[in-house]
Amino acid sequence: MRIILLGPPGSGKGTQGELIEKAYGIERFSTGDLLREAVDKGTDLGRRIQKPMERGELVSDDIVIELIQEKINKKDSQAGYILDGFPRNIQQARELEKIDPGKDEIALDIRISDHEVIERLSGRRVCSGCGAVFNLKKNHPEHQDACDKCGGTLIQREDDRPEVKKKRLEVYHARSENLTGYYKSKSTYREVDGSGGIKKVFARIAAVLNQHLSKKEVI
Ligand code: AMP
Repeated sequence: MRIILLGPPGSGKGTQGELIEKAYGIERFSTGDLLREAVDKGTDLGRRIQKPMERGELVSDDIVIELIQEKINKKDSQAGYILDGFPRNIQQARELEKIDPGKDEIALDIRISDHEVIERLSGRRVCSGCGAVFNLKKNHPEHQDACDKCGGTLIQREDDRPEVKKKRLEVYHARSENLTGYYKSKSTYREVDGSGGIKKVFARIAAVLNQHLSKKEVI
């Protein structure tokens, strides 16, 4: 099964993607994480994408398509995978269909309001050591600046800064309607309420996935 996580920045795609990965044993690929890793390592690619990422803009389709293609092609074609942050537009969605055609698919749209997006991104902190994600208000670490898991320093993502997060939300809205339309027309689109705590949202997601899996067994 291919699970595509749609939804605005801060809707919990990363957190929920990790929970799905653990519960269902399918690997997660996050284009945001892969791109940030390239920037942190200072690779050629990292230097090319650093500026657009800092401005909250999308990087070019060619780059992300190549990254995802590499990941999918490396895997056993029967195995499932979760895509977090990809596709971000119709062009990417069409390319994905070419890379791995006819795959059993669910496009899970995790919905939260713009107000909630701004709130969540303002409080989001990421561990500079292990990448664990916290929220100062709702999923706060025991100590303000240190990671509960590895003790690393917690930092704010460059693109969670006030001026950039607004831009990211604009970029999301400019494309999300077309993308949801695309998956609705494929009948793989499912909407999930992303409000409330992490466990509550995961229970909603699991209900959708389990229903899908049980239908497949009957067929
Ligand atoms: P994310 O962690 O998914 O919010 O992504 C962080 C940033 O990485 C985005 O603001 C974009 O600059 C870039 N990015 C991630 N995924 C994509 C994608 N599929 N297409 C273009 N840019 C992307």
